Amino acid sequence: MSSSSVILVTGGSGLVGQGIKYVIETEPVGSKFGKREGETWIFATSKDGDLKDPKATEAMYEKYKPTHVIHLAALVGGLFKNMKYKLTFLRDNMLINANILESAHNPGGAPRPKIEKVISCLSTCVFPDKVTYPLDENKVHSGPPHESNFGYAHAKRMVDVYNHAYKEEFGLNFTSAIPTNVFGPYDNFDLEDSHVIPGLIHKTYKVKKEIEAGNKDAKLVVAGTGKPLRQFIYSRDLAKLFIWMLREYDDVEPLILSVGEDEEVSIEEVAKAITKAFGIEGQYKFDTSRADGQFRKPATNAKLLSLVGKDFTFTPFDEALQETVDWFLQNYETARTGKK
Ligand code: NAP
Ligand code: GDP
Repeated sequence: MSSSSVILVTGGSGLVGQGIKYVIETEPVGSKFGKREGETWIFATSKDGDLKDPKATEAMYEKYKPTHVIHLAALVGGLFKNMKYKLTFLRDNMLINANILESAHNPGGAPRPKIEKVISCLSTCVFPDKVTYPLDENKVHSGPPHESNFGYAHAKRMVDVYNHAYKEEFGLNFTSAIPTNVFGPYDNFDLEDSHVIPGLIHKTYKVKKEIEAGNKDAKLVVAGTGKPLRQFIYSRDLAKLFIWMLREYDDVEPLILSVGEDEEVSIEEVAKAITKAFGIEGQYKFDTSRADGQFRKPATNAKLLSLVGKDFTFTPFDEALQETVDWFLQNYETARTGKK
């Protein structure tokens, strides 16, 4: 990286963006993941402009004049929101990604610094549904994604296609990261339009209130059978990996950012851990009329560990979950819970 750099993080108010902000502000200055001399970090939000709009995107680049972009902004949701709004997920994310990359390319030659790198954020949802496991970086395009989120998945896959095309036609240094399911402080804790961990945290909070009000049989209702498996990464661990990628990773090929493939957790284990963190362990039941989604999507982190080093430590799941629940309880009034 140059001695003076401006790092623009789009989606800076969200789960992953706030994870990066936390790490940059709390790790020692000059350390592996801390802020370095000459770096200016900008955490943009939708208040800086709607990135579906090319003019607003251009205006954001004009305003901040970045040299590097970590592109996180996206329409994001869990299984049930993805199932409801397939076209919206496809269209909004296609527009946002195309605008971010084209403004970084800057074909009109607007007077601002050349962009040294863009890292866009994909997701393990992009992988094919029918594929041999574990998922690895070479399998992104080897079959259709799971039908439950094909809108979001196709929009995200196209970023990898764009990155290769920008590199081949213009030599640009655009790449992508592929995280597994993420959780942590500043997540979207909406009851329905969220991912499983924040959704179940908010629901458990309400169940606990009911129990305290005298309904001792109240139970957390978990959607589906509880049998699907997921790999979860804590947002503050993921943040460190993005910061490392920004400084060290210069390949167009995507990089999976994940815990080990042997660290899959079932949705029932998630429910058990969340009820435990609230002190009502085991007070849950399943609504099997609701969808399970993709059964599993285990990804290997072999390429990541070969590059970042085998000594990179991931926060144990139960510890990260407790930190997230504590954060939710302390920030309930301002957290994204779907209340107006
Ligand atoms: P999030 O908490 O929902 O945050 C989304 C961010 O994007 C917010 O900062 C939001 O700004 C911004 N944004 C949304 N639409 C925008 C628009 N039209 N114009 C400008 N900004 C817009 O999402 P997240 O979970 O941090 O996700 C970050 C990235 O990680 C996404 O690319 C997502 O696909 C990827 N990812 C997430 C997960 C996961 O489990 N959460 C897993 C794998 C990959 P406002 O706050 O101002 O609305
Ligand atoms: P996915 O990995 O993209 O499918 O994302 P999610 O975070 O939405 O996880 C979905 C898995 O959790 C599915 O197996 C759901 O059936 C299960 N699940 C159980 N309860 C909930 C809930 O309250 N919200 C969500 N989003 N999923 C839930």
